[in-house]
This record gives sequence, C-alpha cells and structure tokens, in this order.
Amino acid sequence: METILLIYLFIIGLLLGSFFNVVGLRIPNNESIVKPRSHCTSCNRTLTAIDLVPVFSYIFLKGKCRTCGTKISAIYPLIELLTGLLFAFSFYKVGFNQELIVALAFVSLLMIITVSDIHYMLIPDKVLLFFLVILGIARVCSPVTPWWDSIIGAIVGFGLLALIAIVSKGGMGGGDIKLFFLIGLVLGTKETLLAFFLSTLIGAVIGGFGMLIGKIKRNKPIPFGPFIVIGSLMTYYYGDTIIEWYLTLF
Ligand SMILES: [Zn+2]
Repeated sequence: METILLIYLFIIGLLLGSFFNVVGLRIPNNESIVKPRSHCTSCNRTLTAIDLVPVFSYIFLKGKCRTCGTKISAIYPLIELLTGLLFAFSFYKVGFNQELIVALAFVSLLMIITVSDIHYMLIPDKVLLFFLVILGIARVCSPVTPWWDSIIGAIVGFGLLALIAIVSKGGMGGGDIKLFFLIGLVLGTKETLLAFFLSTLIGAVIGGFGMLIGKIKRNKPIPFGPFIVIGSLMTYYYGDTIIEWYLTLF
C-alpha cells in the first residue's frame, strides 16, 4: 500500500510539475494557463502527446524540439522530476494525513515560484494569493502548535524581509518579502527564521562559488527565489532535527 501511494504521488508530481512549468511561465505574462496549448517557443508548433510526457519526452527528444531542433531548457524536466520526487518524499516524511495537503501545496507553490523567478526574476502576486488561500485553509485543518504560531511566523517572515529590503535599499524583491509571509504561515516562527538563515547561507555559498568560477558577475542580480525554495524545503522536512542539533551545541 505504502509503495503504491509513493509511486502514485511521484507520477502525480511529474504531471503537475509539467503544469507548474506552464503556470510559472505564463502567469507573469498574464497569459491563460489553459489556452493556447503548449507550443514550441521557437517554431510555434503545438506540442503533441509525444512531446508532453514528463521527463521522458525531454530525454527521448534529446532536449530538442522535434520540428525545428531548437534546444529545450533543461529547467522543464528538472521541475517535473523535482516535483515528482518532492511529492513522494512529502508522503514518506509526513505520512497520509492532513499535513500531507500542506506539504503538497507548499511544494507546488515553491516549484511554480522557481520557474517564474528563474525565467523572469519575479514572483507573481497571483500565484502567492492563490496559495495564500490554499495554505491558509490547509493550515487551519492541520495547525502547527500552538496554532497562532502560523500567524506570528507569517508576520515575522514578512517583517524580517521587509526590514532587510529597507536597510539594503532594494536588495530584496517585493516578491521575496510576500513569499516569506506564506513561508511563515507554513513553518511557524522558529522555523521561518531557520529557513531565512539557510536561504541566505545557501545563496552566499552558491553565489560565491559562481563568482569564483566566473559564472556569476558581481553586479548582476541573481534570482534569490531558488535559494529560498531550498532553504524552506530543508526546514520543512528537517527543521526540527536541525534546531535540536543546533541546541546541543550549547
Ligand atoms: Zn520548434
């Protein structure tokens, strides 16, 4: 039973991941997410079933459009695979209960944001608003202890990033600030602070390494969203363990 659910969630994740690519790419342009059907951005050919099997199409077509041969971004299959893996892992980690809805919604939000932030360096309000409702309801059904820590977490997350934006004079985007409101809602106060700490740490390490190998230019802005995503997911799954470990150091 467990294994079947695990595989089932993996496949659902693959398929939804494919949809999240569309959402993340289209919402910032105010395009419809259902019409037109997915097409090659280079030759405009409408994609058919063969082109749309998550991950496998990309491998089978060797990362190129079937008609015009234009390279397809590896971000697409990566988001599909990641969503599949994270859906399955969420079930493994939290089990089959109300918290799983929070986990799956949280993963979905973070995957869509990754797509938008990588492509456009922006986190769309529409997506945040949609998930504010979903995660709000999910958190009411599966509250943190104490329940009001979700609200404090949201305020602290939002406030902390707003403060940094003010102090750094725009070093933090408006989307990042609003995103941390949602992260606070999901994680509660303590873990929100941990998520922020991990995000900046990962950002600094990867950013520093990128500069070292010349892939990132010092004055060129890089999207902070993906680091927030990694930091928040690490905290969602392992926050307790990390905080416990940290406290044993004293
Ligand atoms: Zn094409």
